[in-house]
Amino acid sequence: MQILTTISDMQNWTQGARVRGERIAFVPTMGCLHEGHCVLLREGRKLGDKLVLSIFVNPTQFGPNEDFSRYPRTFEADLAHARGCGVDVVFHPDVEELYPKSVLPSTSSGRTDLWFDTLTTNGAEDLCNQLCGKFRPGHFQGVAMVVAKLFLIVQPHTALFGEKDYQQLQIIHRMVADLNIPLEVVGCPIVREPDGIAMSSRNTYLSATDRQRALALSQSLKRAAEMVAAGDHHPEKLCQTVTDILTAIEARIDYVSLVDADTLEPLTHWKTPSVLAIAAWVGKTRLIDNIIFR
Ligand code: AMP
Repeated sequence: MQILTTISDMQNWTQGARVRGERIAFVPTMGCLHEGHCVLLREGRKLGDKLVLSIFVNPTQFGPNEDFSRYPRTFEADLAHARGCGVDVVFHPDVEELYPKSVLPSTSSGRTDLWFDTLTTNGAEDLCNQLCGKFRPGHFQGVAMVVAKLFLIVQPHTALFGEKDYQQLQIIHRMVADLNIPLEVVGCPIVREPDGIAMSSRNTYLSATDRQRALALSQSLKRAAEMVAAGDHHPEKLCQTVTDILTAIEARIDYVSLVDADTLEPLTHWKTPSVLAIAAWVGKTRLIDNIIFR
């Protein structure tokens, strides 16, 4: 397994692989790898002749009061996971490599620049402004910016993302379509702990008590799924049921919303495919989870 830290080394490696006719599968991450990431990597291993993992905690997708500096960085452990999943190349640039000072975003929001505003998100404002977009201004612009850069550096044939970040997945689908980026985006189902909690690098922030309380997220979605299975699927009632369960553990709710799976517009009438999505704070940790009704 090779570890590459510069854009030119990564692009040279890609060029060689493509000349040899090898298909490249790519899994972008912020590290602190867990089984959720490993499922993407194993799926990528099947879809590509070569498998590239990127590990980069991307500053442009964090707000000024968010957890960029304390985001868990566990590079050595990540390498062990990567080897176990058959990764060929770990792309691990530092911030200066991806955002040299000369091109560091410097608009008033401080996090995006003209090219990326224009190219990546103007066409997807409708998607970016829903759900998490309302609570994390600039977040998806930062995600789109780094993913677009990584796509141009790694030039994969296939890129894999988790449905855990459903809105992110939809925005990337849209970006790839709008910009005619020649690759296939593959979404993979949420990987959960045995007790149901969605795996997340941010779960490491939770105290033992908050970890117990956080179970309410997946439990509330499970309850909603049971209601849907029983034909009881009025959007307002589903959201109220989830809200009640989250309120009972004193979570601070950012949103509970049943949305159209393609447009992410809130639904007033039941339809499929739809997504019931949650963002809520348990203690000082913001967690997201969702369930897709196909
Ligand atoms: P992150 O490192 O949090 O940026 O995540 C990297 C990728 O892993 C994203 O595509 C996430 O959606 C995906 N991912 C993270 N947690 C999970 C999970 N529990 N199940 C499935 N995919 C996940």
